[in-house]
Formats: sequence, C-alpha cells, structure tokens
Amino acid sequence: MIIRNAYHFPISKNRLNQFLSIGIHPWYVGKFNIDKIPDILQPLLKNPEVVAIGEIGLDKLKPDFELQCVAFLVQTEIALAAKLPIIIHCVKAYPEIVSMLKNFQGRVILHNYYTSEVLTEAFLKLPNVYFSLGKRFRLASGLNQKYAQKIPLERLFVETDQTREPVSIAYEEISGKLHIDRLAFATQVESNFKQVFKSTFIN
Ligand SMILES: [Zn+2]
Repeated sequence: MIIRNAYHFPISKNRLNQFLSIGIHPWYVGKFNIDKIPDILQPLLKNPEVVAIGEIGLDKLKPDFELQCVAFLVQTEIALAAKLPIIIHCVKAYPEIVSMLKNFQGRVILHNYYTSEVLTEAFLKLPNVYFSLGKRFRLASGLNQKYAQKIPLERLFVETDQTREPVSIAYEEISGKLHIDRLAFATQVESNFKQVFKSTFIN
C-alpha cells in the first residue's frame, strides 16, 4: 500500500492503488492565509483517496516558525474532525511537537523519524503515535540509530521518502539494522498500517 503527498492543489489524477495525504507543509505556510486553511482542505477531504492529513508539522530550518505552529494546530483540528491520521514532518522541533500533541486524541505518524532516545521515550508516552523510519535513520551511524531500538515493532512504519528505491530495499536494510527478521517485520508493519488507517478504507 502506498501513500503519497499531494503537494499541488487541486489533486491531479491519482495512480491506481495509491492513496493521498493532503496538508499545508511547514515549508509553504507563508504562501497561505492561515484562516483559509479549512476552506482549502475541507473540499479535498471528499476525495475518497485522501486517507491522511499531511505532511504537516514544524521545521526550524525554514522561515515562519510561529506561523508553522498555528498552521499545524489548525490542521490537527481538521484531522480530528475528519477522523483522519496526521503525518508529521519535523526538523529540529521534536520537543515542540511532543508538547503540542499532549492532548491530541487522533492517530499520528512521525515521518522520516530521527531523534534521541529521550525524545522517543516522550513520544512513546503518547497513545497513538507511530514512527516511520526512512532515509535519516538509514544514513545514521550505529550510535545515532539507538533511539529506534526503543520503539516497539507495533509502532513502526517504513518509508521511501527522499529515495527512488523500491520499499523492499528499505525493509531489507532497516530490519537488518534492527536485528529482526525482514518478513516478520513487513507483516507487522502491514498490521500497523491497518490499525492506523482502519477507519478510512479498511472495512
Ligand atoms: Zn517531510
């Protein structure tokens, strides 16, 4: 199952068996009137291929951080009302994301997740947070990958964002680094996927 981001509105014709997440990415919040975000997203939610709100989040390497925070919170509200999971893009702002999610009741995927063991423990205290490992994890050295050992398998996802490889290569490499069987890992991730997206298209 593949989920890709619709970066350009309106949504262009989708590919077969691919689903979409929609949202105002933190890189682009300056291009939008924050008050108009609900008006932009609501009509797109009617598209049955839309299964998540994202990427939304915070990026300290990009401008408009205050605006990013407001846009993030507005979109978490939209996701909650639509009963859709959120997919978070976060760079150098994990402590802020942890505190902003404290009272969020929806499902959360932290995309391209890469941080410390301490922050991972903080995220694990939140009930519905899932961690997607991708390029940042794969490129890290052994010591900097230790945070991922803290994450239970039933909270993990795998992604190919920023690469053009088939997902099987990511499974191979990540399962090797986590010292787990690749097939068992893939089966678990599939079950995690069903858990997170159950209300959207799995009957
Ligand atoms: Zn991202």
